[in-house]
Amino acid sequence: MQMNAQNSSGSQGSQSYASVTKTGIPPPLTKLLSHSKAQACQILIDKRSLQATNELKELTEVQLTTKAELTLKLMSKVGTTLPDNISFLSAKNVQNGGILYELNAPGSAKWINALANRSKFLNHFGTDIIIKEQVYQILLENIPISFNPNSKIALSEMECKGGLKQDNITKARYIKPIMRYNPNQRTAHIALILKTKTTANQIIHFKISVKGKKVYGHKLLPKPSRCLKCQTFNGRHIAADCPQEHNTCRTCRANHQTASCTIDIQELYHCANCNTDSHTSWSHECSIFITRWQENRVRNEEAKYKYFHTEDPNTWDKIKDKSNNYETDPLPPQILTQTYNNEWRTIHHQN
Ligand SMILES: [Zn+2]
Ligand SMILES: [Zn+2]
Ligand SMILES: [Zn+2]
Repeated sequence: MQMNAQNSSGSQGSQSYASVTKTGIPPPLTKLLSHSKAQACQILIDKRSLQATNELKELTEVQLTTKAELTLKLMSKVGTTLPDNISFLSAKNVQNGGILYELNAPGSAKWINALANRSKFLNHFGTDIIIKEQVYQILLENIPISFNPNSKIALSEMECKGGLKQDNITKARYIKPIMRYNPNQRTAHIALILKTKTTANQIIHFKISVKGKKVYGHKLLPKPSRCLKCQTFNGRHIAADCPQEHNTCRTCRANHQTASCTIDIQELYHCANCNTDSHTSWSHECSIFITRWQENRVRNEEAKYKYFHTEDPNTWDKIKDKSNNYETDPLPPQILTQTYNNEWRTIHHQN
């Protein structure tokens, strides 16, 4: 991130590299930095759809790594020039059912993610799978609701006015569906999905202009995951591994699939998590969701920092503004919206 020139005003109290090396980097930050470094070398392979069978799940980590290595060999055999030393170091089954691979270097992960290489890799690797792109999400507060997040022109105007690289904004969406807003409401929060940390940090640092209004950006943090079968927020399993035999409806808590539920009035909603009426099991108003999210927030070291970490010490600032102090503040209702499901996004479908 090129923040140095304007840093004197915007990043008071930031640690200079010299001061950090003198005092030593605190262990939690060292851990975050090495996590961030490893992330740059990773790719996430996942099923194309929830319904697709996941044969990869049956393979061991060694088998998965060998499979990926063989895929590279096959690509090379049919004429693809591979980058020097590209190799797969490890594979890990992740909670949502995908396979997280770590490669030898960020350049190798970047090469696989390039459009042409990605489709060739997937063609040789297997069927019904995709590679998910790593994305960085930020929350922009109080955007004039005349902003249309689905308009490509609106997004490229934001990039242009914010001095961002073209096509760095992958997507924008209102946090709450626009139809659920109060008729007198003039502004609303949006989530902005970005391709690079640098772009996300640039917006967090310098703010960005949307529809003639300059707005702040904050990192969006992971929200507690919910099992789609039993609806629990405990985050220990996904639907495919759910120990419960029957489906619990997320709207009324009865033993049927949510899609077949006929309940459509709020008074009859029933939450399977806190066992009360008037809200659904996925509601962010649920007391169990709020408790779990607070617990996650306290445990999540990343939440204490303002920027997405890079090697630039300017991105190592802790959040000092009290209103955004994720560490100690109670959870204000608007912060509940500052969550997202995961940091990977589907970018390409390919056999
Ligand atoms: Zn479950
Ligand atoms: Zn139901
Ligand atoms: Zn509840």
